[in-house]
Amino acid sequence: MKLEKFSFGIGDRFAHQGEAQLKAIIKAKEVGIDIVPVWNKSNREHQIIQSSPVDTRNEADAAVRRLQWTDPYYVDADHINLKTVDAFIDHSNFFTLDVADYIGSEVSEAEVNDFLSLAAPYEGKLVIPGIPDPFIVTSTELEVIAKNFLGAVREAAAIYDHIVSKKGADNFIAEVSMDEVENPQTPVELFFILLMIKQYGIPAQTIAPKFTGRFNKGVDYVGDVKQFRKEFEQDLLVIDHAVKTFDLPDNLKLSVHSGSDKFTIYPIMGDLINKYDKGIHVKTAGTTWLEEVIGLAIAGEEALQLARTIYARAHERQEELCGPYATVIDIDPATLPTPAEVNQWDGEKFANTLRHIPGHPEYHAGFRQLIHVGYKVAAEMGNDFLSMLRQHSGVVGEQVMTNIYDRHIRRLFGI
Ligand SMILES: [Zn+2]
Repeated sequence: MKLEKFSFGIGDRFAHQGEAQLKAIIKAKEVGIDIVPVWNKSNREHQIIQSSPVDTRNEADAAVRRLQWTDPYYVDADHINLKTVDAFIDHSNFFTLDVADYIGSEVSEAEVNDFLSLAAPYEGKLVIPGIPDPFIVTSTELEVIAKNFLGAVREAAAIYDHIVSKKGADNFIAEVSMDEVENPQTPVELFFILLMIKQYGIPAQTIAPKFTGRFNKGVDYVGDVKQFRKEFEQDLLVIDHAVKTFDLPDNLKLSVHSGSDKFTIYPIMGDLINKYDKGIHVKTAGTTWLEEVIGLAIAGEEALQLARTIYARAHERQEELCGPYATVIDIDPATLPTPAEVNQWDGEKFANTLRHIPGHPEYHAGFRQLIHVGYKVAAEMGNDFLSMLRQHSGVVGEQVMTNIYDRHIRRLFGI
């Protein structure tokens, strides 16, 4: 299986918006941008929602069938590891091998030495075509890189081999992800991580490093935009060079686990992939769920009341809901509106506060992030929530589609 040049990861917590999401991809195709959809869902999400990987598969298949999508599409076992992968094997054809937790884990001297002998030719001046100044790589640095990343890549190989043993090598796409960590990986580290990926025989088609800056859930990028541009450009060139030098899959590309809504850096990424004629995979995570709440807020009094209740409960349970996401959200509780205030809002006000339109006077990033992590509240409502979604599928679907197409795809591809 060979992943296409442009792919878009679309998360859908409650598995009701597959068609609306696919409509956004179809709209892009109509204006000449060929993107393949990848429905992604992590084990953590499945557990919170109490869904299972077959539900994501069914959702994707149904959307594709109903909209007569004939191009490829994928179902991503997102952020899996050896402990969680088995439930996904039969239903996914894209696996995000998450080895962030294995960065810095123990490796044998023999493995380090194997790597160091493979890396020896690149010690000293490392010239990456397209990057004006060579990097200077010392033997000490190579040892540090080995100790940091070898254990992680070895773990990725173990997961990869396990999936191969169950599915066969040609039946899925492998991504290696190290994004859920504090420190970004430098372009030089990326180069040697790719060498390790070769060393351990993983035919990865996408790689998700941690980029510089904060990628908080559902809100815009926070960080040094100039530095991001520089690193992203260098990463593209490093991958290009590594593919040729290490004979890696020629479609190997960056995967950006965006946490959604990185509007500021979308045009930068779009500009650079265009400049070098490269592909990209962008995961947009769970903002589809926010569009569901926005849709309900403007779908009449009863649905608005449900949206208000979701906020009130999330507000009450802030600590519990934010806990698992502490490193990827920034909410100042003092600025949050009280549930009593929100109960006075009409649907437009609620929607405008939640919808991510940068610069909109009513937009509130904290309100948005709290509801973003509050999907557990809706999961607990069960059918009360889902039946409301179904009842208002038209207005909700319109929000979902418009969000993916207008705010994501158009910004990334400059259309
Ligand atoms: Zn990620």
